[in-house]
Amino acid sequence: MLGLLIPSLSVRPLAGYGEKSPACFLVEIEGRRFLLDLGEEPATGRLPELSEAGHIDAVLISHGHADHVGGLRALDSIGNPPVYASAMVRALGDAPLRSARDLPVRGRITIGGVEIETGQSGHAPGAVWIRVGGPAGVLYSGDFSREGTLFAFDVPLPARYLIVDASYGTYDEPLERTVDMLARMARSGPLLLPTQPNGRGLEMAVHFHERNIPIALCDNHIAIARRVLESDQGVLNDNATDRLSAAVAAAVDYARVESSYGAILAADGSAASGLSETLQATFLERRLPVIFTSTPAEKSGAGEAIASGHAHFSRWNVHPRLRDLRWLVECVQPDITMPAFLRKGEIEKLPRDFIVPAVTDLKLSPDGSRDR
Ligand SMILES: [Zn+2]
Repeated sequence: MLGLLIPSLSVRPLAGYGEKSPACFLVEIEGRRFLLDLGEEPATGRLPELSEAGHIDAVLISHGHADHVGGLRALDSIGNPPVYASAMVRALGDAPLRSARDLPVRGRITIGGVEIETGQSGHAPGAVWIRVGGPAGVLYSGDFSREGTLFAFDVPLPARYLIVDASYGTYDEPLERTVDMLARMARSGPLLLPTQPNGRGLEMAVHFHERNIPIALCDNHIAIARRVLESDQGVLNDNATDRLSAAVAAAVDYARVESSYGAILAADGSAASGLSETLQATFLERRLPVIFTSTPAEKSGAGEAIASGHAHFSRWNVHPRLRDLRWLVECVQPDITMPAFLRKGEIEKLPRDFIVPAVTDLKLSPDGSRDR
């Protein structure tokens, strides 16, 4: 009898599995077909395999980073299905996102008879994890972090199938170590941190400010901080509003930091545009430290600056460590776990629970057994 109550389920990555590629997962449950995220590869503009998508009932967006939403520009190639995103993601996003339908940051909606539940994922403003189809369905973590200062995190719900952000593989160092190291550098002179204002940049501002280090923020950081602070959507942790307000109010002009000491937080995160691009040239010329905190694409200017030894990489955690992956699996209790956003060779180094047998189109039949 149980088999009649549990729907069959299939999950197919159109991108995002077996390599560090954009997010896009096709989930079919109860006869409905959903795309979880529709990203593009930021460095190359590469899109997921949309020719394999078929009819799509809805696109559900976890958060507004390009590798999760950049592919929305190709929405008409899959018949323009409705897109769902949280109010904060819509407010900070471009045209296709602004007209999206509402996905609560913590709540429940029904699409085509399928239950969709969400909670915050601690990664960026308005970022959520998504459960499709209740406990017999899929829990998609989106990008998530349990070490965030500003953005709230809700404990995810159980599901039969877990698609989890495993970007950092077996990496297990606490964020605190990086914060201490960068704070030491910023105390001894000017430090340039090209960063993403729609996420880690604002977290960094709070950490440095609370360590009494002068900070400068580019216009993009200030604009996004204001929108987050002005909104009343409950996307921030308790007391994070005061902490972010204090950091923004204390920000000084970057020239002041450049001529003495402190941290300059400037977009974009790979110094390919914006103030970080301009300042990177000056910093490298003066042999001042430039630190990238997210892994830059190999062929980008940032990748080359690191390879030549002029700039450096130091990870600022905004994704889960190995201990967080283990914790999430304990919470979700899945039958199958798909570790997303990680190269094949790195997946093999994960604990055995995370290793999925050559996934291209993995199904769970109603009795819970796996078939291909
Ligand atoms: Zn992200």
